[in-house]
Amino acid sequence: MPSSPSYIRLLGGRLCLDFVNTTPSHSELSWEGLVLLLEATRIVSADRRVQLLALPQSDPSAAQGLLLKARRLSASLRKALTAMHRKHRIAAEWVEPINEILRITEGHDELIFEDGAWRMEFVAREGGLDWLLAAIARSAAELVAEGPKARLRICANPQCGLFFYDKSRTHRRRWCSMSVCGNRSKVSTFARRHSPAHGDA
Ligand SMILES: [Zn+2]
Repeated sequence: MPSSPSYIRLLGGRLCLDFVNTTPSHSELSWEGLVLLLEATRIVSADRRVQLLALPQSDPSAAQGLLLKARRLSASLRKALTAMHRKHRIAAEWVEPINEILRITEGHDELIFEDGAWRMEFVAREGGLDWLLAAIARSAAELVAEGPKARLRICANPQCGLFFYDKSRTHRRRWCSMSVCGNRSKVSTFARRHSPAHGDA
């Protein structure tokens, strides 16, 4: 069991971006990563999270089946987003895992009141485990369909690489998070300007 879900950072501004951001590039989505993301994004409750974390022991083939689908979705979505960010063409094969999940999960939109405002949320019809990926696939499809005008960004910190959707008024957001990467950049700029250190704070 992971000690805490603190490594799930919801900074992407879109569900599909938070999903891809859960897995660093060149590594594979873990079962814990998937389940903790599902809880952090409120697709599942805390109780359901506990059940799901135990699923690889209680029903290994169900867990493995879902994990493989989620990994395929994550890896191909990363390729599609990278191409989109570079204004390159998105290959049909990268979109297929999204369509595959959209096809098998029925659902509908519902208005949800949250934080003082109504927003639309996709509610999947429950059945099997595939519905757990339905909202993510839906979010991915919406973003891909936005095309080149989508304000998809990659954090300006080269060590970070997180995707985010720029909802800022000026459309000039550079960092996944000002408090994480923005400040780190400021600190290193400060350190370069003020080195060698003079010993006083
Ligand atoms: Zn960052």
